[in-house]
Formats: sequence, structure tokens, C-alpha cells
Amino acid sequence: MRKKAVIAVEAVTYPKIECPSKTSEFFGENTFSLKLMEQMLPSKTFKAFKNWMSTGHMITEEQADEIAAAMKSWAISKGASHYTHWFQPLTGLTAEKHDAFIDPVAPGVVMEKFSGSKLIQGEPDASSFPSGGIRSTFEARGYTAWDPSSPAFLIETELGKTLCIPTIFVSYHGEALDKKLPLLRSDEAIDKAARRLFAIFGKNAKKVYSTCGAEQEYFLIDEKFYKMRQDIMLTGRSLIGAPSPKGQQLEDQYFGSIKDRVLNYMVDVGNQAAKLGIPVKTRHNEVAPAQYEFAPVFEESNLAADHNILLMDIMKKTASKHGLVCLLHEKPFAGVNGSGKHLNWSMSDDSGSNLLEPGKTPHENLFFLAVLVAVLRAVYRHADLLRASVAKAGNEHRLGANEAPPAIVSVFLGDTLSEILDHIETGKKKTFSTTDILDLGLTRLPKFSKDATDRNRTSPFAFTGNKFEFRAVGSSQNVSTPIMVVNTIVAESMDYVAEQIEKAKASADFDTAVMKVVADLIKETKNIRFEGDNYSQAWRDEAAKRGLPSEASAVKALAAWKTPKAVELFTKYKVLSEEELHSRYHIWVENYNTLLAIEANTLYELVDADVLPAGYKYEKLLAKNLYLLCELQKSAGLKLNDEAMENHKEHLSDIVTKIWYVRKHLMAMKALLKSSAHVEGAEKSMIYFNELKPLMAHIRKHSDELEQVVSDQEWVLPKYREMLFVC
Ligand code: ADP
Ligand code: MG
Repeated sequence: MRKKAVIAVEAVTYPKIECPSKTSEFFGENTFSLKLMEQMLPSKTFKAFKNWMSTGHMITEEQADEIAAAMKSWAISKGASHYTHWFQPLTGLTAEKHDAFIDPVAPGVVMEKFSGSKLIQGEPDASSFPSGGIRSTFEARGYTAWDPSSPAFLIETELGKTLCIPTIFVSYHGEALDKKLPLLRSDEAIDKAARRLFAIFGKNAKKVYSTCGAEQEYFLIDEKFYKMRQDIMLTGRSLIGAPSPKGQQLEDQYFGSIKDRVLNYMVDVGNQAAKLGIPVKTRHNEVAPAQYEFAPVFEESNLAADHNILLMDIMKKTASKHGLVCLLHEKPFAGVNGSGKHLNWSMSDDSGSNLLEPGKTPHENLFFLAVLVAVLRAVYRHADLLRASVAKAGNEHRLGANEAPPAIVSVFLGDTLSEILDHIETGKKKTFSTTDILDLGLTRLPKFSKDATDRNRTSPFAFTGNKFEFRAVGSSQNVSTPIMVVNTIVAESMDYVAEQIEKAKASADFDTAVMKVVADLIKETKNIRFEGDNYSQAWRDEAAKRGLPSEASAVKALAAWKTPKAVELFTKYKVLSEEELHSRYHIWVENYNTLLAIEANTLYELVDADVLPAGYKYEKLLAKNLYLLCELQKSAGLKLNDEAMENHKEHLSDIVTKIWYVRKHLMAMKALLKSSAHVEGAEKSMIYFNELKPLMAHIRKHSDELEQVVSDQEWVLPKYREMLFVC
């Protein structure tokens, strides 16, 4: 079976895809864009809509009806029969429940209908979505509400088209049951705090928002292998599998030439993404074999988050069209790199100017420094929340392991900027004046080239020229939550900086006041800065000395959502209420436990039904062989080399032992699952983390050893070397 699959994969032909000549001609054709709205709506309605976007002043019911009518006629003209409110519940990525446009108007007669009220609000049968205890069953309703800042779009399949309306998902009392609403709220916090800082610096903007570019890593393997690996099918990752003798040691995959089959897939994904207005810009091979990356051009965070989720969806669906499977799990294969999602983050005002862009004049540079120290302070104060925002079972295999940014959050600034900050800090003994600022070289604060700032790939939170890159985010994650955290903590610190400057201004001129605040914060947050190798033991030791949080367990890290500090922060900025925070904690702990239980049960079945039978067959082969040889020695007086015979016996004994170790740990795992069945919540998670995971690792170790010795003919599961290299 396995060998046949390898031959079949080698012979695979891949689908021809249409390659339209110019992306610009079809970019965004499946979105109900602002441009379309302008064409289709009465100008007054269009203006009202735009006003709603910029000032929050809601449109009228009639205007909503007009927009719904335009949206409907556009969607129907493109072949859509259904619409759905598309939302992002707290587990999984997105949810959708399709409704047909048709409504009966007379017996046997229907008409396509869609009203403003249906556009604005929906009520899916939501009782099965997790709320973490927010809703009691008697009011188990969740409502979806249109998010007009993200354009509606069409999803095409061979079976039809569906109009998808991005929505938030809230309870009857308005609590967020999704990941999108808190993100939108956090962007409001950024807007307010940034404009407060703007005002102090005499700058002006109608709106400030966060920006995000999410670099998406993924693996591609052939579907034939995937279907023979129940572990990957059910859990997204291989629970066993001996390493391929060739993995990523030769470093020949990163940016290597892309195989035709994979490139064909990438082109297909790129085209579909473009139709949905997702600006995918970069595609390349990643470090591990069979690992790749797509990176988009950055956008306003809310849109970037929606687009990233859509892209992941397109990536998965397109893979199956190509006989491939796209694995988004953080660690599908042990021993080679896992997948992350580098989250590039900055802030922009409505004129498109980047708040983290070092300026050309001393005054601009002062502003840049004020924003920079606000980010430093944010990370320094809330490293635990950043860690919590990326805490999930899959990411536990990356964070803290020697490949991904570690579980310790630190900030990398690069040589140039570090030097400047050190200079400002040590120069503190002087009183600051404009000439001092000049002395400090601030007029020449360079435009940091990427080369100068992007050398440290081991840092979890790195400044890369004019943005920060949060690298600990997992590849399968919805980026809304990590962005929401970054936004909220930075908003809080921008407020703090603004406050401090206002105070200092009372007794000093403006520039001196700013420099004092900057210098104070550089000093205060110094412990969060680290320029060295984040993977090294030396850093772990140093970080411990500095008292930086380092939490290898996802569930322990999740506890940061419940601290008084977190409650104070999120409630102050109206991003999440205490109840919303607690509900998230509970849902994510539950999710961790469920995933691990699924993994353990899958491993059990896989090893019992596939690994051990192969082991027994090999054991039998060796035993029979040995028995026959001994018989021949006895009955026919055959002279056999004593050492060779001893070795035969050792070999057999070795296999017997290996099988026993697998069995022994398998039984221990079964007993542990049973004894912990009644335990709940974080307590269960800790049993899983401290006991179940090591047991699973043991089973894997011995199973992998068996894989390396048993007859290749008897091994039914596709091997690493096949899944990673045959495509
Ligand atoms: P890499 O990190 O792979 O070397 P780049 O640093 O060039 O690549 O860009 C990575 C991502 O950062 C891209 O998706 C890009 O659009 C995004 N990016 C660039 N500027 C900003 C910004 N101001 N805000 C958010 N993301 C940005
Ligand atoms: Mg990057």
C-alpha cells in the first residue's frame, strides 16, 4: 500500500490552472469594494457609509436597505444563490451558516430578497458555539452584526457561489463571543491614545489604526500519504515518525527553486486570493523540506486578520484540488522546523504615515522615540499577555524548543537603535536641550535599513526598520487575538507616555520634557531588551536573573488573561470585560485538554493497530529464522559462527525489548487517561503537560526506533522521507 502510494505520487499529474495575464485586471473582483459601492449606490448613501467608517456615525435603516439591495444584485449577477454572515468564533477559525436569497412570495413562487436588517444583523443557531460560561442556556443566542470595515466577498466553489458578510458575533447582552470584536475595540484604543500623543506633538490625524502583515508558513504533502496517516488527518501533526536521514541539515530548501507542482499550487492560491482582494506578494520555500510561505502586503489590522483567515481557507481548499494537503499546524513534523506566522505590526494615521517610521527632523525623531519607548514599556509590562496570546497546544511544540522564538518575550532593536537608546540613557545626567538632542545625533537618526535591523531571527519581538515583528504567533492561529493584545498594551503605554510628557512639560521646555520621559523609560524597560541569541541557554539563565516570565506550558501562560493587571488593562480600554477574559481562559484551557486527549487516543490506536503489528511480524521473522538456524545446528550438525548466532539472538532480544517499551508506555498512557478522566480544567491540563506529553514522547521514541529497524515491507505508515520529499 505504502509503496504503491509512493509510486502513485511520483506519477501524479497536476491540474492545469487558468493563468490570467494581469493580476491588476481581476484583483478584488470577488469583493463588494468601496469602488463598487460608489458606482452602485446613490451618492448620498455612499457618503453616509463613508462617514460611518470615519466617524462612527451610523447609517439609517433606509440606507442599509439600499446597500443590501446593491450587494444582493451584485452577488446575484456574479452567480451567488446564498449569503452568510461570516464570523470568527472562539474556537476554530470561521463559522458560516448559509441562507438562500429566495423567499416565497406566493404559492410555488419565490423571489430573491435581501434587506438591510438581514445585512446588519443575523441570528445563527448559536447554542453550540463556546461562550465559556457567558450565556446561560435560556438565552443561548448569539447575534452576528455586520462589520462594514471589512468588505463582503464571494466564495466560489464548483457547486455555487456564496456572498459572505464579515460580522462580529455577540451575545444578547453585547459580550464578545468572537475574536473580531475585541480587535475592533482595541483599534479604537489605539486611535484614541495615538491621537492624544499626536495632539501633544502638534500633529493632526482623523484616525490612527494598527497595521498588520502576517507572513504565513505552511507545509504541503501529497494527499495519498495524508490519508494513510490518521494522526495527521485527525490532529494535524504526525504523532510518530522516525526522522528522515536527510532533513533540513543541508539548508538547501530555504528560498530554493520551487517544484513545478508546488508552484502550480502557489499560482492557483495567489490568483484566488487576488480575486478576493488579498494582496499576496511573496511566495517561497521555507527552511524545512515541504515547508513554504506566503506573505501579503500589510493592511489595516482588521482587514489583514480577515484576509489571513481567508487565505488559510483558500490554501486548504486549493490544496485538495491539487491532490495535496496544506498543513497549517505549528509542528506537523518533529525534528524539522515548525510553522509560525510572523506578525508584522505598526500603526498608521489616515494619511498613511507610519508611526514607527524614524523621521528626518529632530522633532519627528522625538515623536518616533516617544512611540518606540511606549512599545518597549508595553512589552515590558505585559510580556505575559503577549505570551498568553500565542498559547495553544500546537504552539507549545515551537515556543521554547530550539527553533522558534522562545517562550521568553524580549525585544530586539538592532545595533544602531540600541546604541542610540544607550546614549540617551547614559546622557541622562545632563539636562536635555535642543543642542543636546543634536549632540546625541538625533538629527541623523537614520532610516533603519532592513539589513541593519533584521539580523536577529531568534527574537520573538523584533524591530525591523519601521515596524515590529512578533514572531511567536502560531501558523494556525487567528491573528486577531495577538494583534488585539499588542494594540491594547501599546495604547495603554502611549497614554502613559502622553501623561508623563504633560507632567514634565510643566517644568521644562517641550523637547527636554520628551527626552526626559524617553530616557526614563529606556532605563525602566531595559530588562526587556535583548540583542543576542534567544535560543541559547545563556539567555535563559540571564532572563531568569532579570525576572522575565518564561512559561513553557501553554495553559500556565493562559493564566495571564485572569490576572488583576490584565483585568484592569482590558476593562480600562473597554476591549474585554472581566467576564469576557475569564470566558476566553476557560475556552482555551478546555480546547487544550480536548486536543491533547484526541492526540493521545489517536496515538494509542495508531500504535496498537499499525506500529505493533509491523513489530510483531518482524519479531516473528527473526524468531523463526533463529529457530530454524538452531534446528539446523542441532539436527543437521550445521556449523555456524558462534558470534553471528549470538548477534542474531541479541537482535531478536532487542526487538522484543523495543516492542515491550512501546507496550509498557502505551499501557501507562491508557491508565493515565483513565485516572485523569474526572479531573477538569487547568488541573487536567497540567497532568497532560507534565505526565501525558512525556509518555507520548516515550511511545514515540520507541515506535520510531522500531520504524527504523523493522522490515520496510511491513511498515504500513508513510515515512517522513516520503511525506517530506516525494511530491
Ligand atoms: P521578511 O520579514 O520576510 O524579511 P519584510 O520585512 O519585507 O519581509 O515584510 C514582512 C511583512 O511585513 C510583509 O507582509 C509586509 O507587508 C509587512 N509590513 C511592512 N510594513 C509594515 C507596516 N508598517 N505595518 C505592518 N506590516 C508591515
Ligand atoms: Mg519576517
